[in-house]
Amino acid sequence: MKKIVIIGASHSGITFADQLRSGGFEGSITILEKQIINPVEKPPLSKTFLDEDFSNTKIKFRPEKWFLDKFIDLKLGVEAKEILKEGNLVKLVNGEEISYDCLILASGATAKNLPSKMLQNNKQFVLRDFKDALKLQNALTEEKEVMIIGGGYIGLEIASSLRKKGHKIRVLEVAERLLARVASPELSNYFLNLHKEHEVKISFGESINKIKEFDNKISIETSSHKNYVADLIIVGIGVSPEIRLAYEAGLDCDNGIVVDANYRSSYSNIFAIGDCALNKDEYGIRIESVHHAQFSASRVSSCILGLEIPTYEEPWFWSDQYNVKLQSVGIIKDIKNTVSRIGRREGSKSWWSFSSEGLVAVEAVNDPQAYVVAKHILQNKIKVDEKQLSNNDFDLKEMIKK
Ligand SMILES: Cc1cc2nc3c(=O)[nH]c(=O)nc-3n(C[C@H](O)[C@H](O)[C@H](O)COP(=O)(O)OP(=O)(O)OC[C@H]3O[C@@H](n4cnc5c(N)ncnc54)[C@H](O)[C@@H]3O)c2cc1C
Repeated sequence: MKKIVIIGASHSGITFADQLRSGGFEGSITILEKQIINPVEKPPLSKTFLDEDFSNTKIKFRPEKWFLDKFIDLKLGVEAKEILKEGNLVKLVNGEEISYDCLILASGATAKNLPSKMLQNNKQFVLRDFKDALKLQNALTEEKEVMIIGGGYIGLEIASSLRKKGHKIRVLEVAERLLARVASPELSNYFLNLHKEHEVKISFGESINKIKEFDNKISIETSSHKNYVADLIIVGIGVSPEIRLAYEAGLDCDNGIVVDANYRSSYSNIFAIGDCALNKDEYGIRIESVHHAQFSASRVSSCILGLEIPTYEEPWFWSDQYNVKLQSVGIIKDIKNTVSRIGRREGSKSWWSFSSEGLVAVEAVNDPQAYVVAKHILQNKIKVDEKQLSNNDFDLKEMIKK
């Protein structure tokens, strides 16, 4: 294999290129990226994007020189338009064609927005990339009333960042709790109280009916006929995987590009990694996280380099809100019981969630010890006694002693 083309220069695409070169791959590596700025990491965008000295230089994945030194041809401002899989070609929006021996789809996901019939104006924002973060930063130079649509991680991290700067925040969530899709009810409740302590107003069970603009403000009418007024709206209602190229090329797609355990798509020399990939057999769902972006990249680089394939890893995630660091491992699904534990440090807590199969996920706030032990337990499928766990005097480390 001589020529590898990657579509997307972000957490998965850049990790993959790096691993390939470090592993001794000597062929050509080209990365196509439709954004024009040098790629930046995403997690800081919702966590520190309002810092006075926030700039893209601090959060760049790699300096420009790194790509040159590694002989990785990063083509910025270049969008892939179509895959001609029988001819091993990618057609670009600029009319050019690029050939490959192996194609890696690392095209990620795009932020969902409100239906187009609702007002789309310069007072409505999403946050997915650096461009979005800059737009928001420019709109928030003075104190504003902000309506955040969606109580998921992005919405809550933005709420926390904006409260630190004194903006007034209301979160509108269609479900009956925060983080309903991804967290245990216990963790949802914890974050609800945390945000309330920081004077964030939160409404549940409400979606938007109508948005109107008046006197330089926005009025938002909800499904329960309440009206809220804000200076701007930030929509954080999840993402859609970027699967168009794969779908139109006839690859198997669902809520993501369907891949096997090597992250190979239904066409043998095309792989998909990161947020756009759906590894149904191992994870069941599409995983959106930095860990999965890196892990899936390592599976494909090992496969191409002929190295041993990395074993399954439990997905992990983190979130920073106010002075709280959440670390979670595993997938919250079919939960029948959640055991709470108080950690050793002040304010540290963890929730251990069980399905009928046993422990499936652990969420720890300000409790790195619980998180590390939980990761080890889940990764090594160690059996955990729920009763023992619910006893706070029981030392967690006992569970991982041989
Ligand atoms: C604000 C924010 C905060 C986050 N915080 C966390 C966190 O704390 N912890 C965590 O684990 N995860 C976090 N995430 C999620 C994490 O960033 C994603 O899981 C990760 O970015 C996925 O990487 P990716 O490379 O698969 O896709 P992406 O990062 O979406 O990158 C895909 C790239 O492909 C490019 N592209 C797409 N289509 C084309 C095309 N046709 N031609 C050329 N280029 C194309 C896009 O421009 C983009 O640069 C956060 C995400 C956001 C937005």
